[in-house]
Formats: sequence, structure tokens, C-alpha cells
Amino acid sequence: MASQNPVFIPGPTNIPEVIRHACDIPTMDHRSADFPPIFDKAKSGVKAVLGSATGEVVLFPATGTGGWEAAITNTLSPGDKVLAARHGMFSQKWIDMCQRHGLDVHIIEAPWGEGVPVAAFAEALAADTTHGIKAVLVTHNETATGVTSDVAAVRAAMDAAGHPALLMVDGVSSIGSIPFKMEDWGVDLAVAGSQKGFMLPAGLAIVGISQKALAAMETNGLPRCFFDLRDMLSGVYPYTPPVGMIHGLSVATDMLLSEGMEAVYARHHRIAEGVRKAVAAWGFSPCAVTPALYSDTVTAIVTPEGIDAGRIVTHAADTYGVAFGAGLGAVAGKVFRIGHLGQMTDVMALAGIATAEMAMADLGLDVGLGRGVAAAQDYYRSTHAAPARAA
Ligand code: PLP
Repeated sequence: MASQNPVFIPGPTNIPEVIRHACDIPTMDHRSADFPPIFDKAKSGVKAVLGSATGEVVLFPATGTGGWEAAITNTLSPGDKVLAARHGMFSQKWIDMCQRHGLDVHIIEAPWGEGVPVAAFAEALAADTTHGIKAVLVTHNETATGVTSDVAAVRAAMDAAGHPALLMVDGVSSIGSIPFKMEDWGVDLAVAGSQKGFMLPAGLAIVGISQKALAAMETNGLPRCFFDLRDMLSGVYPYTPPVGMIHGLSVATDMLLSEGMEAVYARHHRIAEGVRKAVAAWGFSPCAVTPALYSDTVTAIVTPEGIDAGRIVTHAADTYGVAFGAGLGAVAGKVFRIGHLGQMTDVMALAGIATAEMAMADLGLDVGLGRGVAAAQDYYRSTHAAPARAA
């Protein structure tokens, strides 16, 4: 039996009861007239969350990884050049997927903890006078390091270079939680998953597509079948839709939009700030190297030299039944992560901070019981939280 405690992993996130119930609907004939209203409502809700007025949204029965694959296979052709930075586990995995599909990835290496190196992107784009680069990939929120990159600045660099490449953004751990402006930023393909900001179980790859990407799809493409956007956009769902998940998504977007996206962003920022106050009170630092890069959805906390951060995660799970995120890839054992996205309130965050503190104290770290909690409490009290949302 899973613990009844909230989770503090950076996805899947805690599922509000109303969304859990919304996923649990009786079987319906998805070819009947009952399905299109549910489907259309979910898609228009996602469009509003993405900030896309003119684009399309598709919902694959998949996860964020499937969304990456849909983005690249529908709009790029074999051997096409793409520009990407490698600065964490997820940017690395998307690069790996591109390479496995035979794309020529121009990789700009950046230290883990840094964001997308916009100046290096600008240089590469300006140097590409023949427009060989067909797509620019940005991992908006590197979940492995807790780093949020500046998508608007990448768009500005592309515009300054007069570069026509498609802008593809991984918003798996950002969309629905922190500002995402698909149309304002000129994002051509936006990828999300159901299990993070949308507060659903894993199971939907959510992809926003601009008109420019739709046009690219007509002339370009790698082999694809399950992820063919043309089938998905034909007006008929090309296979059996996960109706319960899609119904849940329509309710999730209702919840987000009725809270108001600006309020959702403000809530995430406030909760994240409280977590960061606790981290500072423990005497630790986030993995993100500057405050401008701090993610409001996940904080990766660097533990002191000689301390295996993985032990904190294991101990918290085994002893207190609370899940935190372990370090991944190059930062495995060096960081542990507190996810603070989705259905999260300051009171929930305080429980997570308190548990992390107990686990670290048990393991002999000199964090001082109550120190982080008090710092977060001070911050939350002084910023006058709105009452927690009913779920
Ligand atoms: N991109 C980011 C930023 C992620 O955090 C994740 C998963 O955590 C993925 C992509 C992969 O998504 P999924 O596990 O849903 O396939």
C-alpha cells in the first residue's frame, strides 16, 4: 500500500481528488457523439494553458518522451541539423533521441546547473547563414537540476539572426506551473506530459503545434506511424483514445484556468521561495547556479561533499514514507530534489521541508531540526498566502 503522504518528487505530482474521480468514468463508445465534447474541451483548455490562440493541440496516449518524438519525427527530415544544449538529464535524453533518429545535433555543452546558453545559441544561429539548422531545442525546465531557461531570450536570438528554424520546447516540468507563453515566445512545438503541472497520472503526451510547424509537417518528416500528427489532426482519433485521462485533463485545465494562470504561477513561485529559504537555512545551495535560473517547480539541493544525497531520499522513503527526487546522471548522489509543483500548498511544502529535515538529522547532517521549517514559515506568513485551494 502506497503511503498516504503527499509526494515531493518532481512528477508524477499529487493528484487532486476531483481529478482522480474525473479520470474514473464508465466506458464509453469513443466513436459515439459523447466523446468529441470531452476531447474538444480538454484541447481548448490545454491551448489556454499554453497561451496558444492559433495553434493546435494533440493528446497522445504516451508520456513526455513520446511528445519529444512526435515533435521531431513530424517536422524534421533524416540528417537535418538541430541545435541543442546539454545541461542536464532531460536535455541529454532529447539529444540522444534526435541522434537515434539520424538527426545531426549541434550540441552546445553547458555545466549542469546552468541554463540554455543563449549567447552561444545566438552565435551558432548567426553563423548559420545558409540556415542548415532546422530546429532549436530548449528544455525549458531541467528537472534534473532545477533550472529554468529563458525561452523568450532564445526566441529573441533566433529573431535577431533572422533564423527560420523551428523552436521546440520541452515544457514537461514547466507547463501549467510556471509562465509559458507559446504564442508570445513563438514556440513551434511545445511538449508536456499529464503527470506534472496538469496533476494527472502519467499517460498523456500533450503537444502544442504552431501553424508554422503544421506547414513543416506537410513537407518534412522522419518515419512515424503511432506519432503521426497528420493522423491525429485528421478529425478522427486514429486509435483508441484514453477517454478517462482526457476527461481528467478537461477537469485539470478547468481547475488551473479557474484559479487563473497568473495565480498558479504566483503560487508556485511563493511555495518555491519558501523551499529555497529552508535550503538556505540548512546552509545548502540549489544546484541552479544563479537565482535567475531557480526553478519554481523543483529544487535540486546540493549536499555537502562526502554525503551521498541518495541516502536522504532512501531514508525519507523508508522511515517516513515520503518521496523526494534522487539526483540523476551527473548529479546522482550529489543532489536530492524537492518537487513543489502541481497540487501544492505552503502547508504541504512545510511537511516536505520538515520531513527532509528529520531525514537529514537522522543521518547526522547538521541542519538543525526546525531551522528550515522556521525559515519557510516566516516567508509564508509574511507573504500572506491565499487560502489553500479546495481539491
Ligand atoms: N522532459 C523533462 C523536463 C522531464 O522532467 C521528463 C520527465 O521527468 C521528461 C522530459 C520525460 O517525460 P516522461 O517521463 O513523461 O516521458
